Amino acid sequence: MKVLVINCGSSSIKYQLLDMETEALLLKGLVERIGIEGSILTQKRPEADGSETKFVIETPMKDHKDAIQHVMDAIVDPDKGAIKSLDEINAIGHRVVHAGEKYANSVLISDSVIKALQDCIELAPLHNPPNLDGIEACRSLMPGVPMVAVFDTAFHQTMRPEVYLYAIPYEFYEKYGIRKYGFHGTSHKYMAAEVAEMMNIDVNDLKLITCHLGNGASVSAIKHGRCIDTSMGYTPLEGLVMGTRCGDLDPSVVKTICNRTGLSDNEVLDILNTKSGLLGVSGLSSDFRDLRTAAAEGHKRAEIAIRIFARRVRNYIGAYIAEMNGVDAIVFSGGIGENAAEMRNRICLNMGNLGIKIDQHRNEECVGNTAMISTDDSPVKVMVIPANEELVIARETDELVRKSRV
Ligand code: ADP
Repeated sequence: MKVLVINCGSSSIKYQLLDMETEALLLKGLVERIGIEGSILTQKRPEADGSETKFVIETPMKDHKDAIQHVMDAIVDPDKGAIKSLDEINAIGHRVVHAGEKYANSVLISDSVIKALQDCIELAPLHNPPNLDGIEACRSLMPGVPMVAVFDTAFHQTMRPEVYLYAIPYEFYEKYGIRKYGFHGTSHKYMAAEVAEMMNIDVNDLKLITCHLGNGASVSAIKHGRCIDTSMGYTPLEGLVMGTRCGDLDPSVVKTICNRTGLSDNEVLDILNTKSGLLGVSGLSSDFRDLRTAAAEGHKRAEIAIRIFARRVRNYIGAYIAEMNGVDAIVFSGGIGENAAEMRNRICLNMGNLGIKIDQHRNEECVGNTAMISTDDSPVKVMVIPANEELVIARETDELVRKSRV
């Protein structure tokens, strides 16, 4: 079965075409600047010799439907596409950010699913509308092709009330759905499945802590295959310090900044989302590589930003070890988790008493590949697993569509 994976943002679409017989990537692409001047589609097809055939289209794309039409054309391009006809696409998997409390698993898309996702727009006003635009566009351009929605929030729906409820008047949860939802679910689920396979132990017999450390970052505690806690909350703002997000913060800070600066609450929230985190503290960049270089050259605030980031991850790991009464493996993923040996080292430093021992050589050697980076005698295994959310979406789409046929 060939599965097209679609991830629609407000002005962008990421896509991948996979052959699920072998899980081979046939091509991947990115459309940027949808609805604004300078729309551009960039597609890359991997070749057998390890090279890539690149295809770029620069033409106005007024909306997601327009952009998806160009994606379809690019996929079947006689020279630079990967298939001859769109009929070869057996299913489409859509990344959808928020399913509220409605779905704890991926679902085949139907009218009632679309309605349920529309009802969740209030919870994810920036994310769900473009996700829905992508679904509608594919529906009208490829009617009859089964589609599946894979949700960022679904994997975390197993959290218990004492974990997901905030200690605020209960009616806010009942009336407005204010609770911890968690995000990056597909990435955490993927890490758990991969680590179980690497350790050759059933995921139902493992206690895991999975760390997705990219621009956005979150940690999850996964006990016996079920998410029992995660660091992101009602929105992705809670939890870890991120590239531009502040993470955990005393809510009174918002009021004080409003009062002192005259900014509105929305403007302050925007600052907490887009100008805080590594960027805010360092005053330099949200990108870990820039901070690493600057810190090595003596930039004090870059160094402090890195320390705050590492400390927050460590705090969550400690909390989750306590919550699960131990941990079998800690997994790192995402741009920082996969590539930054120094950050992994800082996070795991001085946790020998908790059974976490990093092998310095293995850690240094691991840049963007799957690897075990703990010592052989470390009671807790520490691993790096490159993120592959598209593969999870394609697998779930493949599975649900196959099941629907029997
Ligand atoms: P997103 O959440 O946008 O998908 P990524 O997972 O790509 O983000 O992660 C981006 C982060 O990963 C940036 O802070 C970047 O500096 C960091 N990163 C990427 N490559 C490396 C590398 N080779 N060494 C250290 N950090 C890296």
